[in-house]
Amino acid sequence: MLVDEGYTKYNCHWLEGAAPPDDYVRPLTQWRNRLYKLGLIGEYENGIGFGNLSRRLEQTDHFIITGTQTGGLPTLTEQNYTLVTTYDWQQNKLTCIGPVAASSESLTHGAIYKSNQQVKAVIHVHHLELWEKLTNCVPTTAADAAYGTPEMAQEIIRLSQEGDLQKAKILVMSGHLEGIIVFGASLAEAGNLLLEYYQNLTNCQKMV
Ligand SMILES: [Zn+2]
Repeated sequence: MLVDEGYTKYNCHWLEGAAPPDDYVRPLTQWRNRLYKLGLIGEYENGIGFGNLSRRLEQTDHFIITGTQTGGLPTLTEQNYTLVTTYDWQQNKLTCIGPVAASSESLTHGAIYKSNQQVKAVIHVHHLELWEKLTNCVPTTAADAAYGTPEMAQEIIRLSQEGDLQKAKILVMSGHLEGIIVFGASLAEAGNLLLEYYQNLTNCQKMV
């Protein structure tokens, strides 16, 4: 089974600390609630949550991301977010400071921020039909790169360097059932791009 969101594979050095600033968190919660209502973020029947989003802390490579196992919550507060300050996908480890440990997809988010300084927000959702539709139509990670692993981060870097990922701003994780990532220069850009694809399920203009 490829749905393995609930399993934290990386070494997370979690420093318990204050919640991130409210004005940074509020736009994330607004978008997150919208996506939750559409079922793009949520929880499977087995209780495992899916979907996460983050935004870059201005002028840094740090980012604020939803905490682990928050997918099933109807709404979030600042207590459900954490600040990721260091990350190293080669060594499969990261440091975060906040009231909760970071989402297990954080290394993937980090790879996107590191590969393009223009990226300010990253959204990861699940949707089977969209995933099937977009696989190999938009930039797609290799099937053997599993969710939340160094191989997945490496795939993101490869797509950034070789393909049209920076133009497309969307990718399919073919080794992670239903997994899709969008990003942008703002949260709204990333969110609206996702909604565009979601609302036009039948159309995908081939990018790869
Ligand atoms: Zn996922």
